[in-house]
Parts: sequence; C-alpha cells; structure tokens
Amino acid sequence: MTGVAAQARAGGSGPERIRAEGEAQGRSPRPALPFLTTPAKTSPDYVRISYASAVALRMKSGRFSREFDFGGINLLLNYDEGCLSDCGYCGLARTRSVDYGDQFIRVEWPLVSTNELVARMADHESELTRLCISMVTHGHAYADTCDITRRIAARVRTPLSILVAPPTLNRERLETFKAIGVDMIGIGLDAVTEELFRNIRTDVPAGGLKWEKYWEVVTDSREVFGPWKVNVHTLVGLGETDQDLIELFTALRDKEIFSYLFCFNPEPDSRMAGHPKSPLVRWRRVQLAKHLIETEGYDLHQFDFDSDGGLVHLRAGRSAVEAVVNQGVAFMTNGCPGEKGEPGCTRPYGSYRPAEPFRDYPFLPSAADLDEIRQQLRLDEVLG
Ligand code: SF4
Repeated sequence: MTGVAAQARAGGSGPERIRAEGEAQGRSPRPALPFLTTPAKTSPDYVRISYASAVALRMKSGRFSREFDFGGINLLLNYDEGCLSDCGYCGLARTRSVDYGDQFIRVEWPLVSTNELVARMADHESELTRLCISMVTHGHAYADTCDITRRIAARVRTPLSILVAPPTLNRERLETFKAIGVDMIGIGLDAVTEELFRNIRTDVPAGGLKWEKYWEVVTDSREVFGPWKVNVHTLVGLGETDQDLIELFTALRDKEIFSYLFCFNPEPDSRMAGHPKSPLVRWRRVQLAKHLIETEGYDLHQFDFDSDGGLVHLRAGRSAVEAVVNQGVAFMTNGCPGEKGEPGCTRPYGSYRPAEPFRDYPFLPSAADLDEIRQQLRLDEVLG
C-alpha cells in the first residue's frame, strides 16, 4: 500500500479530520486535497474473479443451467488502466471504445478483496480443483502476481496456474514463479500463426506484442516447469486454417506441452466484434483432431487438407474414431487438471454465451449431448 493510501484510510490525517479542524477554528473548509481521494481498488489488494468462481465461493448467488461440480477459480489482475496491450478480439483491449464496468468479457467479473478471496478459498479448499491468476500487460503485473501467489500459497494447497503476460516476463521470473509455488504455466498465444498474431496483436493501434517473445516464454516455461506443466491457449476462428491448428497441436504434443482450445466469440465493441464465430461443424472437428493428437497419438500424416488448409479427410478406422467420440472427453473444456488429474479449470461460458449451446462442456457430455455432437461433427464426410 502506498503512503498516501495508508494515510487516507488511517483517519488521523484523512479528509474528515482536516475539514473538522478548519471549521472549528472559524476558517472556511479547505478544498479537498487531490491526494486524499478514495484509493483505487487495484491489484495486488484487489482482483477480479470470474462469475462462476464467485458462485463457487458463495461470494455471489447464481446457478448454472446444468448441475455439475465446479472448483476452478479464475482470478484476473485489476488496474485502472486495464491491460496495456490492444488485441483486436479482446474485451480488455486498450483502445476498446466502451467501458463496461464489471462486464468486460461477456459475463460479469466481480472485483473482490484479495485477502477476503484467499480466506474464502481456504474455507472451500476441499471443493477446489485448480486456481489460476491471469496476468495482464502492465508494469506492476509481475510483482503483483508474486504477491498474490504468496498470499494464496500460504493458506491454500489447491494447485495454482498462472496465465502469463509474456512481455512482463523472463526466465528468471519464471523460475521465481516455480519457487513460490506455481504448478503450471499457461501462455495465451491465441493467434496460431505468426502472420495472424502480427495482424491482430502486434500491428494494431496500441499493440506491440511480439510473436518471438511468446515463444521464448513457451520454451523457457517448458524447461523450468517440465513436461505437461505448460499449456498454450489457442483460439479457433481468428482466420487460421485447420492445417495451421493441427500442425501446432502436433508440434506442442511432441514437446509435451498441452494445447488448450478456445472458440473465438466476438466481444461487443472490440475491433473484431463483427467477425463471425467458427461454425459448429468446424469447431467439433478441431476438438476431435486435437484430442486424437494429444491423447491417442495421431500424427500429421493422418490428416488430409484441401488447398485452403481445410481438413477433408481423417486417415483412421471408423470404429476407433467413433469410440473416441463416444467417450465424450474430446468435447470437454480443456484446462489445467486438478491434483489427481481430474478436470480442474473448466471455465463455464469461456467460449460461448450462457444462452448458447455449449461449445465445450465443463462436465462429461451426456448421451443426449453426444447425439447432438455426432450430428454437428458429420463424421461421414471426413471418414469416407
Ligand atoms: S487452463 Fe485455466 S488454469 Fe490453466 S492456464 Fe488456462 S485459465 Fe489458467
């Protein structure tokens, strides 16, 4: 806490005291001093949490449209300036024209006191599966993430991930994360080719994110945290081809790095607000392909593409693929696991609005869900 903020809260030299002294001596009250304003509710003392996390911790009331256990708690650093990057699809982007208050990424993300949050997490520890701090691009983000991590690690044993902001990091800082108790690192690459990344995240009004820096952090994280302790978030529907995605999934799998899928969902008033969502048939096939690569050991030569990079054929036995589809796991939300390998971070509504059909399922799809998934997949077209 800064000295000014501490003074304002202590009351000894706060605004009320100054006003009272002036009036008692017959002088007109002094004008409010500029440094005696309400302290901003920013990190590390405050963070935002997803609405689902707030419900799980009984900090908000609410219900999901279906009953399922939920124990993944997502925190987001909070600054008055927001994130200093300017990605074309993001609700936090610097040049986005509208201030949505608490509702900047589709659903509400309430602002809470970090210490109260940690106390809640300690109370509910037995129900929690994974904790995650999402950094933003900001000069204080690294120090504040360490501070919040230490507060959590002192009281809660649930495994903790950090979804990092690569511009704020280097190898030494990643080593510090590991030393203070971080279990896994996520990197939000989102745009899966260098060209797309440059168009959407680098060469934009207040951009400047560097593709090379993202990959440096992926490589350093893999070396510091080890196999299957690093994940790369990939966004489907920014303009990449199926081939781009499938090549990336195999390359990451070969390095023992997870790919986690997200479906592009247009944010109102972002520069990509008018960009269409990927059709369900494509999204389901990408989910299936990623699962076949990561979990069943499929390789690039088992996928055939047309001249535009679209997936047209899967070189695989029908019964083997159908068995994978029937398990349903391929269509669940990708996220860092819980302590025993169970789904940990399941982010309900991360890739779709509450009123829309599930793009990924934060639970194992039911028999009825699987019927819908099979219709959406149209497997015959790629297995013939
Ligand atoms: S999957 Fe969830 S817990 Fe893992 S890095 Fe991403 S947001 Fe964090």
